Amino acid sequence: MEKLTSEDAMKLSTQDKKIKSNFEEIKPLEDPRGKYPKPPFERQFQPFPGLAHNMNPVPDHGEDSYIGAGRLKGRKALITGGDSGIGRAAAIAYAREGADVVINYLPEEQSDADQVLELIEKAGQKGFGIPGDLRNESFCKELVGQAIEKLGGLDILINNAGHQKTNESILDISTEAFDRTMKTNIYAPFWIIKAALPHLRPGSSIIGLSSVQAYDPSEDLYDYAQTKAATTSYVKSLAKQLGPKGIRVNGVAPGPVWTALEISGGQTQEKIEVFGEDTAFGRPGQPAELASIFVHLAENVGSFATGQIYGSAGGSGQP
Ligand code: NAD
Ligand code: MG
Repeated sequence: MEKLTSEDAMKLSTQDKKIKSNFEEIKPLEDPRGKYPKPPFERQFQPFPGLAHNMNPVPDHGEDSYIGAGRLKGRKALITGGDSGIGRAAAIAYAREGADVVINYLPEEQSDADQVLELIEKAGQKGFGIPGDLRNESFCKELVGQAIEKLGGLDILINNAGHQKTNESILDISTEAFDRTMKTNIYAPFWIIKAALPHLRPGSSIIGLSSVQAYDPSEDLYDYAQTKAATTSYVKSLAKQLGPKGIRVNGVAPGPVWTALEISGGQTQEKIEVFGEDTAFGRPGQPAELASIFVHLAENVGSFATGQIYGSAGGSGQP
């Protein structure tokens, strides 16, 4: 066993104390209906990609609530789109579970990313930000190379970054716009997985972001919806291909979740006003409510999960 430095021991004891008090504390039941904001929401638009900290209400990514228990101690994770939304919630949870984390995001999202990096450091883990546009194949390769160099390896890859733009008609979608959606949602995971695979050992996990859109596409998300069906398919194909190598591949299919993607062109303003109204709780999910799925899919305890799509849609959608 490696000897602990006194700094490590201090961090451990703070973490231990948190886990111990979490274990001893009686948890009052929380009513899922009233736990988070409900529609009507204020109409709001930010130019793509949008900033989480400028949203009203600001989404909950687990900043004040997620308590780790060492479930990912020693893991090294790369999360694309880790600055905001679902990726941020996963990054916070991973750090508090003991993983070092690299997040990727677009340069204009640096202020959101800085908040996440600070939270990772506060959890006593290493956090690195690597900004850059995933529509570029050579950047995707560099991202993986740099992440591995900074982390000293790679065990978990979450291909979370995504682009969604509402369009009333297929006639409104230019080839450039179609290309942005395809490059971000389909090509980038393809390039990133190819670059990462030679470095992944048995026990590693790859996680993709599907959606309820894969199963029940909206009329105004013609291009986005098909990328999510493609994600479901790549997860299932790759799980079969990589199972014999001991590498697990799974997906998460969220329903409506309150994130910057939705208010930066992902939905019409009419739909923002009533966002999440059609779920069983009459409200959208918050990123924090999905974080533990990503922990489960990456940790050793989840060892039989591969080729699965975990739904989180508040009572709607499949699977
Ligand atoms: P988000 O806007 O907070 O996160 C998406 C991230 O994608 C952005 O932060 C940005 O960093 C990244 N991104 C987009 N284009 C990029 C590019 N060209 N290069 C690099 N990074 C780029 O929104 P979110 O809702 O948390 O989205 C995360 C994932 O969840 C996406 O794949 C999305 O399709 C999926 N999803 C979201 C919902 C929802 O209701 N919010 C539902 C189903 C699926
Ligand atoms: Mg963002």
